[in-house]
Amino acid sequence: MSIDPSIRQEIINYEPTLTLCFQCGTCTSVCPMTDYGMNTRLLMKKLNLGIIDDWVRKTVWLCLGCGLCRENCPNKINIPSVIRFVRSLELAEIRRRR
Ligand code: SF4
Ligand code: SF4
Repeated sequence: MSIDPSIRQEIINYEPTLTLCFQCGTCTSVCPMTDYGMNTRLLMKKLNLGIIDDWVRKTVWLCLGCGLCRENCPNKINIPSVIRFVRSLELAEIRRRR
């Protein structure tokens, strides 16, 4: 596991609403992928701390991009946008390693 404040800052620069997460868990309760391993609340917590571990790397690819989390979040956090950005970081890292 790596905790990287610079990654946290990169994500927040891209999607500033992430910092508004207060861990209510509504996103997890509405996400259609929760039964398949997604835990949106935990994902937002880890990303808010700059944690990109194996679980985060795997979990971001479970998202369908349906937007239900964003629609139901009390702070309208753009979760799909956060996830898309982390995916792009992961793809860039995979390409770099080739
Ligand atoms: S619904 Fe919004 S505030 Fe609640 S845990 Fe999810 S992202 Fe955070
Ligand atoms: S956009 Fe992704 S994280 Fe949000 S509810 Fe849909 S599948 Fe879950």
